[in-house]
Order: sequence, then C-alpha cells, then structure tokens
Amino acid sequence: MTATIPSRDAEAAAAGPLAPNYHPLPVTLTTGEGAWVRDAEGRTYLDMLAGYSALNFGHRHPALIGAAKAQLDRLTLSSRAFDHDLLHPFAEALSDLARPVVAGAGVAGAGAAAEGPQPMVLPMNTGAEAVETAIKAARKWGYDVRGVAPERATIVVAAGNFHGRTTTIVSFSTDPEARDGFAPHTPGFRVVPFGDADALRDAVDETTVAVLLEPIQGEQGVVVPPAGYWPAVRSICDEADVLLIADEIQSGLGRTGTTFALELWGVRADLVTLGKALGGGVLPVSAVVGRPDVLGVLTPGTHGSTFGGNPLACAVGIAVVDLLRPGTFQERARTLGAHLHERLATLVDTGLLVGSRGVGLWAGLDVDPARMTGRELCERLLRLGVLAKDTHGSTIRLAPPLVVEADDLDLALDRLTQALR
Ligand code: PLP
Repeated sequence: MTATIPSRDAEAAAAGPLAPNYHPLPVTLTTGEGAWVRDAEGRTYLDMLAGYSALNFGHRHPALIGAAKAQLDRLTLSSRAFDHDLLHPFAEALSDLARPVVAGAGVAGAGAAAEGPQPMVLPMNTGAEAVETAIKAARKWGYDVRGVAPERATIVVAAGNFHGRTTTIVSFSTDPEARDGFAPHTPGFRVVPFGDADALRDAVDETTVAVLLEPIQGEQGVVVPPAGYWPAVRSICDEADVLLIADEIQSGLGRTGTTFALELWGVRADLVTLGKALGGGVLPVSAVVGRPDVLGVLTPGTHGSTFGGNPLACAVGIAVVDLLRPGTFQERARTLGAHLHERLATLVDTGLLVGSRGVGLWAGLDVDPARMTGRELCERLLRLGVLAKDTHGSTIRLAPPLVVEADDLDLALDRLTQALR
C-alpha cells in the first residue's frame, strides 16, 4: 500500500539532507548582478528583498567584489590572536561613519571641542552575535559601573522585536514560532509595547541596565514608531542612567535614506548593532559600535570570536564604508523611496492594499487576508519575475537594493499591481 505524501513532506524529501528550518519560494537562483538575479532555467527576477537588506548595494557590487578578490590573494584569516593590517583601519572607518549616532561622540570635523571620544568598534560576524555582544556589554557595564546587584540586571525590549535566533535572543521574542520549544528561556528581559514611551518608562527600574530596540521594526513589517518616540526613549534612558542599544542591523547603512535610521530623529544610542549590509552581500560581517566606556568593559577573555574582524571581512567592511561615505546611496533611498511610498499609497487608496508604511526604500504592505495571503502574493510576484517575501501572514516587505533603477522599481510596482488584481 502506498501512502499519500503530504506536500510539505514531499518538499522535505526534495530538499534531501537540508534541514527544514526554512520554507523558501520555489525558485533556485544561480547568478545575480545589481538588482537582478537569474534562476537555473535562465529566467530573470528583480530582487525586491535584497537579502533582508544584506544586499543594500545590490548583487556583486564591483567595488565590494574587487575588495574581496584583492584580499583573497593576501590574507583571509588571522584569528584575534594576532592583529592584521586591516583590523584597525576597519575600526577607524566604521567608528567615524557611526559618530553621528553614538552618544557623546561629537562629529568629526566639527572642531576639537565638539569631537568627544571616538566610538569603539567590536567586530563580530552575524547580526545575532552583535546583539549578544551588546547584551553582554550592557550587563557587564551594569554590574561593573552602575553597581547593579549581582545577577539582577534587566533589559527592556519591545513586543514584536526581531534581534536574531540565539537561545537568549529568542527568550525575549514575542513570536511564538521563534520562541516556543526552546525553553528554558534566558531571564532578565522585560517586554513593553513598541512605540509606547510611557510603558517603557514604567518598565525601567534600578535593575535596568539597557533598553534594546530596533529603530524601525523590520521583521514585524517595517513598523515605524510615532515621531516623538525615539527622543522620549533617549530622555528616559538619560534620566535613569540606562544604556540605549539601537539594533540597526536591518535599518542601518542607507536603507532609510539616512546612513542610520536613528538620524531620522536626531537621536544617538550608547551602543549600535550593525550587520547585514556591512558584509556587502559577500560574507557575514557584524559589529557593535558604541561608547568606549561601555564597550571597554569587555576586557581580554570576557568575549571574542574566531572569525570576528577577519581580514576578508575587514576588506569588505572598509569598502562598504567607502560606498556609504559620499551619501549617494542614502540619496537614492530617499528619492526612490518617496516614489515607492507614493505608488503604494495609491494602491491603498484604490483598495488593492489594506495598508502600507515605511521610510526610504523600505516598505511593509498589508494585503486583505480575505483575498490572499502574503505567501500567495509572493508566489504570484515570483511568476511575474519579482522576488519578495511575506512576513506574519498577510504582510510583505519590500526592500530593493539601493542600486535599483527607477524604471525597474516602477516595473516591480506595476507587477505588484497586476499580482494584487
Ligand atoms: N537584528 C535585526 C534587526 C535583524 O533584522 C536581524 C535579522 O533579520 C538580526 C538582528 C539577526 O541577524 P542575523 O540573521 O545575521 O543573525
């Protein structure tokens, strides 16, 4: 007797030995250039996801590939047992880029009095590792500097957060899929609604060492908080002598039309986590950038990573900072983003979408669940040659590479309109 195989089992069988922790759209990519990718059958697709913002500079940006190739011929790994010739230049470059969003850092070139201490950089690899690093630094700062009672440190986070997949990070996720089944959970986190400064103020007490937030919640569907929220969060942290940790892993490095999303509100954080686009779509590169008196608590032996700050990562990271310095990608994100949001608003007005929001080249769209799921919309878009990905049922996220051409963006929006009809 032959059993009927449910479709997910059939998919799992087709995937062979690959673990089933993803449910990708049915396409197999083979090459990519700029905002475009090609599949095994030679079909082309416009990439409107950009590796969840890891591909802000598009696929295989020549400056990034060039930097990586040159480094491959020199030195690829030293481990942190030894320095290498790009480690300090990378830290300098990233530190200078992040000055405008690090508390107390001053702005380079604004005169000696305005300089302030240079932000410190702690290189890691993945985004989750950068977040873990920030959590460790905040706890240690709380005990060593603030004098919080041993093992009592708390960190306030927001509902709907996404900061990665480690056991500690999923411990304070409010998404049951991400969290359930992985207990016992790491204690020491308090969850408050995102965008509600009063709730945040109420959650902070003498045990609180940090507030950890995404400036804009990407995975939750590009949720932008109310205008006064970030300045209020900064004031609450200042009043209570609590660290503000901004997770800019998805929002940072040009996506929002500014180098960092925090610049939208003129707010500075004590620690900023970066990842995704920092690796230029070439390899995982992450870092925590922040106040030297905070990151400085992580002394030799207390934290580390074999691959963090490796020569290849630094070569690409420096090239990424070089690309961001002139501000042209940020400018593209602003102007093309304004057009994107205008066209999405029309789709809402005509009833094809129930909502859209976002900033820069970053948008979350809600489809009417009675008409189709986000997944169904993404499958339709795939058939029309556009790659996008659903999140949380009826929401999809658009985050094209910042190199996308205006005509291509319009093409994607035409196909979105067609798919919604
Ligand atoms: N933080 C934010 C805001 C993210 O969006 C992500 C990934 O989507 C992460 C952290 C985790 O990054 P990684 O997948 O590189 O560990």
